[in-house]
Amino acid sequence: MPHRLSLKPALILALPLAGFAGQAMAHTGPGSHAGFVGGLMHPMLGWDHLVAMLAVGLWAATLGGRALYALPLVFPVVMALGAAMGIAGLALPGVEAGIAASGVVLGLLVAFGLRAPLAVSGTLVGAFALFHGHAHGTEMPGGYGPLAYGAGFVLGTMLLHLAGLGLGLAARSGAGRVALRGTGGLIALTGAGFLLGAV
Ligand SMILES: [Zn+2]
Repeated sequence: MPHRLSLKPALILALPLAGFAGQAMAHTGPGSHAGFVGGLMHPMLGWDHLVAMLAVGLWAATLGGRALYALPLVFPVVMALGAAMGIAGLALPGVEAGIAASGVVLGLLVAFGLRAPLAVSGTLVGAFALFHGHAHGTEMPGGYGPLAYGAGFVLGTMLLHLAGLGLGLAARSGAGRVALRGTGGLIALTGAGFLLGAV
């Protein structure tokens, strides 16, 4: 299950993940913790979420200006909407692929230091957030306080945005900038590994 994998060199990661297609849907698998703490920990333990959520912060730092606070707010808000869609039974095709693609695209944006107007960056980040939320709207741990789980999940997500933002702002020049771009590349490769597993 992708969520249980530790981060290995991305090229090694990509191959075994291709074999996990059947298990890629298991976002809230057996034995996963429920409630607030379960929600808080899931984005941090699930690499497909973690890399994308870090990348949101990293890209916000790259863009600067209003994107600094807009992107880390747009993502959790739209993610909650996506979860509501899932709970309401509204279908969203390609959820796993969408989550994986979010890592690829956001990682590449950071790796190449690409810029976009706020309307474009906000729309893109929001579209990806929909997939992250929907995956959990349809797999809410039933009977274990979905609201507490959701609150923990949103908080965990925002902490990852802040971590990315902090890293991105601290690494704006010199060697830090190279490290930032490299991190974006690793995120894109990790996302590509999950994409192989999802399609
Ligand atoms: Zn998940």
